[in-house]
Amino acid sequence: MTYDLRGKRVWVAGHGGMVGGAVVKRLTCEQCDVVTVGRDVVDLRRQSDVEAFVADASPHVIVIAAAKVGGILANETQPAEFLYDNLMIEANIIAAAHENETEKLLFLGSSCIYPKLAPQPIPEEALLAGPLEPTNEWYAVAKIAGVKLAQAYRRQYGRDYVSAMPTNLYGPGDNFDLASSHVLPALIRKAHEAKLRGDKTISVWGTGSPRREFLHADDCADALVFLLKEYSGENHINVGSGEDITILELTRLVCDIVGFDGEILLDPTKPDGTPRKLMNSNKLLDLGWRPRIPLPTGIQQTYDWYVRHAPREAFADIG
Ligand code: GDP
Repeated sequence: MTYDLRGKRVWVAGHGGMVGGAVVKRLTCEQCDVVTVGRDVVDLRRQSDVEAFVADASPHVIVIAAAKVGGILANETQPAEFLYDNLMIEANIIAAAHENETEKLLFLGSSCIYPKLAPQPIPEEALLAGPLEPTNEWYAVAKIAGVKLAQAYRRQYGRDYVSAMPTNLYGPGDNFDLASSHVLPALIRKAHEAKLRGDKTISVWGTGSPRREFLHADDCADALVFLLKEYSGENHINVGSGEDITILELTRLVCDIVGFDGEILLDPTKPDGTPRKLMNSNKLLDLGWRPRIPLPTGIQQTYDWYVRHAPREAFADIG
């Protein structure tokens, strides 16, 4: 029952983001036509924009990689946008897909949909089995609604709409803005700037003890294309690397790769978030998919990208 992507028009919503960009790149190996549209042309939060675009482009396949995303602090400080933007984006796209009889749709969620104290590694069945982590519940509630919406159209109308839940992703093209980024790009930037400035220390948020699982965006894109072809089912599928690491261990690894040998200071005034969110990705592994990029290799490659692309103004205050 493999879905054949050859000759299909595939709209990647969110192609400007790290994951969407990686999916576009990965799809170049699939003999399909990739369709993208800029946010200056279609505002995905506006139903009329999305309806008109989908009717016109008439994609056979849609990948929803568009979302308002951000790290622990961005989530806490912009709850309205994290909830509203994500609800609107997914509702508009999934409903338009149904109206236009789009054959296949893949919705991307996140491991933060799971309860704060979910069993580890987290199986798909843990969804809605307990209270969410408060620092990202706005984003999580929106993403849970998206999973349910895809399920609802499958159940009521027989649509082949599926959902994937990637773990914490990183890679080239990530957001390196310290106020809104996730931890890995933040640590790369902090270590790099500290090295350039000759600082003796870098500051890491929280206690350093939370554990996180990381997956390179190219591995994630490969898994998503694999799922498009090989999976059709009501249940969402976890997409992870299968290994997690403490924030302190991660900081040491990043400092090694960047070449910063100063002291690591912990800042317990910043939130830790959920203590652990290692996912159980056995369903995906059982289908035959495997990650390829080890964490140190991926961090080195991301660091190389950062050094090539870091905005000059980021170093304006560095002599
Ligand atoms: P989360 O996985 O949703 O909690 O999102 P993040 O990637 O933003 O944070 C992961 C963990 O890294 C949390 O425990 C943060 O407190 C910790 N952390 C340590 N230093 C930083 C930093 O400079 N930026 C971010 N975003 N998180 C940090």
